[in-house]
Amino acid sequence: MVSCCSTCCKQRKIMDLVAFYQRILSPPPPWYVSRVECYDNEKRVDVWLEHAPSKFRCEHCMAECSVYDHAPERAWRHLNSCEYQTFIHARIPRVKCPLCGVVNASVPFATPGLSVTLPLEELSIKALQECTMTGAEELLGVTARKLQHIQEAAVERGMERRQSDVSEMMGLDEKQVFARHKYFTIITDLKDAKVLEVTDGRKLEATTPWFKERKHDLKFTEVVAVDMNAGYSNLAHSFMPNADVCFDRFHVMQVLDNAVDSTRKEEQGTMTEDQRKQMFGARYCFLYGKENLPERNREKFEAAKAIAKKTSRAWSVKEAFRDIWELAPPDFEDGFKRWYWWATHSRLQYVAAAGKTLKRHFTGILNAVIHGVTNALTEGLNNKIEAIKRNACGYRNKANFRTAILFHCGKLDLLPH
Ligand SMILES: [Zn+2]
Repeated sequence: MVSCCSTCCKQRKIMDLVAFYQRILSPPPPWYVSRVECYDNEKRVDVWLEHAPSKFRCEHCMAECSVYDHAPERAWRHLNSCEYQTFIHARIPRVKCPLCGVVNASVPFATPGLSVTLPLEELSIKALQECTMTGAEELLGVTARKLQHIQEAAVERGMERRQSDVSEMMGLDEKQVFARHKYFTIITDLKDAKVLEVTDGRKLEATTPWFKERKHDLKFTEVVAVDMNAGYSNLAHSFMPNADVCFDRFHVMQVLDNAVDSTRKEEQGTMTEDQRKQMFGARYCFLYGKENLPERNREKFEAAKAIAKKTSRAWSVKEAFRDIWELAPPDFEDGFKRWYWWATHSRLQYVAAAGKTLKRHFTGILNAVIHGVTNALTEGLNNKIEAIKRNACGYRNKANFRTAILFHCGKLDLLPH
């Protein structure tokens, strides 16, 4: 029987590992696996890639160039090999691109700027789509910082791949983020229920550049739904000259909800201590639509209505407006006229003022009824953004929050191909 020496056996084992990783990684030529180290104690595998002599493409403009030199060795985290953390090592060739100068060549195993390989990047994106940043961090063992970079690269890629970022039916809304006075403008495609862009701030200076860049395409927008209060209608009129400006129901109802709430506050000021106690906990009931009031609050609400007569009347006027919104456009116009008379003759100052506000914005409200711009269109996106906001305690800045909104609500093609 022939026995071999231990050095020879070790050599064979290493060769087997190299062949095994060459087979399972199959790096596209000219890349090949040159070395593998396996550390059982650390449960870690390190794999080195090298390349045969070849030309490479510039990572920016993809022009084919000759190799200039090589960047120092770096490592990329890969999918685990069973439970062994796996790292790919390589020296990226640098090319002398006539357009971009001496830059890194494009490599087939990782996205430029990321320290994970493409398969791990893809898995991370899928995990981030399904769970929070912390959840993905725990599942994959990839740090939040790396996941943040992966999310940013995915959004950037998705935005580049997007064919068009205007729509026939657009929405403009403001969203408060973090502390007071920090707002974002959310530009949405209402037809496809997706966020097109998030701009920092609600002032015109912040949003105008986006519209200026797309001035030509925006001529084809037919409907734009805006928040009545945020002063977006001027923007809509300047950049979407052919679009009907609509005030969506959500924001219109907000005006009336505020009127009911102000009436309640004023009335509560005139109540006895005892009545105030009975009103306690009923203030939110006045903000519900009649069919949405939870059963458990019904008794409390009836009692509060009996005490707060003025607030109760204000609530009825608000509810009547919700009813006429359901009418067909010609009936809506008549219904509004009757409702307006009631609101302005109700001897409820806040309700009358709200009625006058709505009359001033009547064309936009009627447009919303005609075009069927319903809550359903905006509410789904709004809820999604609110959920991102709730999970956003970990976000340190507004840029990360913008990235998260576009990642989850942009319907972007995010995965690396
Ligand atoms: Zn180049």
